[in-house]
Amino acid sequence: MNTISPLAEAAQAEAPRPESPRINLLGLDGAELASLVEKWGDKPFRAKQLLRWLHQRGVDDFEQMSDLAKSFRERLARQCEIRLPEVVTAHKSADGTRKWLLDVGNGNAIETVFIPEDDRGTLCISTQAGCTVACRFCSTGHQGFNRNLGVDEIIGQLWLARRTVEADRDGARLSGGMPAPLGTQDDRVISNVVMMGMGEPLLNYDNTVSALRLMLDDNAYGLSRRRVTVSTSGVVPMMDRLSRDCPVALAVSLHAPNDALRDDLVPLNRKYPLRELIAACQRYLEFAPRDFITFEYVMLDGINDGDEHAKQLIDIARQVSCKFNLIPFNPFPQSGLKRSPMARVRLFAQRLMDAGIVTTVRKTRGDDIDAACGQLAGEVKDRTRLKERLAGETRFGRIVEVRE
Ligand code: SAH
Ligand code: SF4
Repeated sequence: MNTISPLAEAAQAEAPRPESPRINLLGLDGAELASLVEKWGDKPFRAKQLLRWLHQRGVDDFEQMSDLAKSFRERLARQCEIRLPEVVTAHKSADGTRKWLLDVGNGNAIETVFIPEDDRGTLCISTQAGCTVACRFCSTGHQGFNRNLGVDEIIGQLWLARRTVEADRDGARLSGGMPAPLGTQDDRVISNVVMMGMGEPLLNYDNTVSALRLMLDDNAYGLSRRRVTVSTSGVVPMMDRLSRDCPVALAVSLHAPNDALRDDLVPLNRKYPLRELIAACQRYLEFAPRDFITFEYVMLDGINDGDEHAKQLIDIARQVSCKFNLIPFNPFPQSGLKRSPMARVRLFAQRLMDAGIVTTVRKTRGDDIDAACGQLAGEVKDRTRLKERLAGETRFGRIVEVRE
């Protein structure tokens, strides 16, 4: 039985992060870098140069930052660092899907997944180690909450993934005789980012927004707002804040068409019921870079996949401009839930489409590396176990195609 997660207390319950006496530059967005540089009495353009070295060019060594004055570089080396989460394992699937397991200290790990497609490359990133929302169908939720990720850990996932994926691309080009400079803005291999990994991004609001700002900053990753998606279980007040602070594409994890069922599947619904959630979606659309909200709907056999549920969903879809993304459930032992048969998923999708709702069904990807997006593994007690888990277990589920 689910209980409402003590959201307010979550921050206090947070496990402390290992401290470092140096400033990790990856944890600062453009404005924060500018104020650091100003505090040192340096010219504001130094912050932009730094941003470009760190994020656009992916350099992690001060010595290589050749257009910075030597004294400035020396100060950086004395007071700052460029620290990334440590890669525990990196896997590449036959279909090109990649998965990284990253150590974030205190025996916790997070996952990042890259999904290449013909017309885009999507990175699925985590925002918390664990999650307080405790959705019934989510293995992250079942593992409890450890702590919010820092800006450096959120953006570090993009930093690391981009370096690997671009090196892949450039290696392929070099062998084909077409060298390309690393990280040119018009030739991105990571074109889309979705916050659909571990954790609830809107319950780690400030760090999520700083990381989003770096993703959008032309001196950093320069991604389009339409191609960066925050996925939320429905933290209504924070949806409003996001619409004002940093409107990006929004996906809402609906999963149930009525309050009784949603209270059970997504306990946060007891705090922000459907009526309030739908109203928040309507308000968000006034600011959103896209003219629809993506509703995610995990298909659970005999729970939320009946014709009556489809009918109720159609009523909801009439109230808000939206698309539906049906996600075949990735089972894990403790859930006690089953994936809807594919025939049912297709029929359900057809019901929605017959009512004029754009509906997609997520495909599984990267089966051979047993990776996942949206139900990632969390707590890790020690590295030995971590490696064992990666080697064989199926708890990680499957990579799914994310089309945003
Ligand atoms: N906390 C945010 C973002 C991370 S979860 C949210 O809930 O939206 C990203 C997506 O993965 C959500 O839609 C979530 O419902 C889905 N998901 C979680 N567990 C899953 C599972 N076992 N099978 C399929 N999808 C799952
Ligand atoms: Fe948290 Fe999202 Fe998992 Fe729910 S589905 S427990 S909100 S990560």
